[in-house]
Amino acid sequence: MKILKFGGSSVGNAERIKNVVDIVINSLKVNKKVAVVFSAFQGITDLLIETGNQAALGSNIYLTSLETITNKHKTILRDLVKHENYNEYEVIVERRLNELYELLQGVFLIKELTPKTLDYLMSFGERLSCQIITFCFNDKNIIAEFCDARKLIKTDDNYNNAKVDLLKTNIKIKENFENKTNLQVITGFISSTVNEETTTLGRGGSDYTASIIGAALDVEEIEIWTDVDGVLTADPRKVNNAFPVLNLSYEEAMELSHFGAKVIHPPTMYPAMVKQIPIRIKNTFNPNFVGTIIGAKNTDFRFRIKGISSIDEVSILRVQGPGMVGVAGIAKRLLGSLAVAGINIILISQASSEHSICLAILPKYTAKAKKIIEQEFVYEIKDG
Ligand code: ADP
Ligand code: ASP
Ligand code: MG
Repeated sequence: MKILKFGGSSVGNAERIKNVVDIVINSLKVNKKVAVVFSAFQGITDLLIETGNQAALGSNIYLTSLETITNKHKTILRDLVKHENYNEYEVIVERRLNELYELLQGVFLIKELTPKTLDYLMSFGERLSCQIITFCFNDKNIIAEFCDARKLIKTDDNYNNAKVDLLKTNIKIKENFENKTNLQVITGFISSTVNEETTTLGRGGSDYTASIIGAALDVEEIEIWTDVDGVLTADPRKVNNAFPVLNLSYEEAMELSHFGAKVIHPPTMYPAMVKQIPIRIKNTFNPNFVGTIIGAKNTDFRFRIKGISSIDEVSILRVQGPGMVGVAGIAKRLLGSLAVAGINIILISQASSEHSICLAILPKYTAKAKKIIEQEFVYEIKDG
């Protein structure tokens, strides 16, 4: 069995979706079993967030944004399916769009968009795209079933970036796929708590969905289809002559993605690595190209450095002073105090003289981190 995941960039309009459907049909010819995971249509998640924020501000503009969302889905549906089937499908899509309208109306009335509501709001992106793509498969006589991943992927209630309970999730996935013979069209990115509240796996999380499901089902390969030829040596939007890396180890892919290579969502590597399942990154616009294979074995020895990635916005905190030299336990207190406050550290360095320690953190934590460190070392600072 294989699992194929297509990102928003591959499903931006009807033309692109037709291309994707052909890729899936070809895969069905050569593989015994295939399941597919889709993201929301390109730009829709951003638009849903924007619309939610407008509604929460009490601005009527949200209705115009909702109209844009509605039109985009209806246009894609109309361009994709047979004319005689359109009305039947439209009823179902419209029902979902009405639910979205009711939700946004609620946000508008109470002028509040909580992280929990935001997850439910964003879930419409994947639920609509997968529903429409399922219709498209059925229209081409490929019997497909819409599969809402919220019933498979169980998480904690850390809304917007939930942590997956792999034990519960794996059981659900195996149960669900046991007797399924039809092509499953699975929503990426979305999940739910034990109380069935909608959660999401972090922006770009559909890659992770594919890996979780692929690992639970012991597939032979997880294919991530996107709009570039694989993992490139650098971000192609910043470096013109970046070129594809043919092979990466799981660890190398983790490093590159954690450090900003957006092509693959960082946690994607973990479930695949545990089961030693290769992940292949392929280009929907150049399907014959081999792409990048991420696996246990490193076979691309052309260059000693595989790639360079970067994060645009980080804060560097420097803690320094002669009182730190030769004093045991400073680093422990520094890192420990930040850990207690839930502040994640991206990078650490210490001068060999022990005179300074530098930390990189996300900018949103800067003020909080500074305050915590000043509290932790309040007596040392007082003593100069
Ligand atoms: P999808 O919609 O398929 O999930 P994403 O936009 O999430 O696609 O990821 C693909 C994009 O990642 C590429 O279009 C590219 O601009 C960007 N990117 C950043 N760094 C890299 C890299 N090192 N290799 C390939 N793509 C990269
Ligand atoms: N649609 C979600 C996002 O835009 C998930 C994904 O694309 O992988 O973040
Ligand atoms: Mg992505």
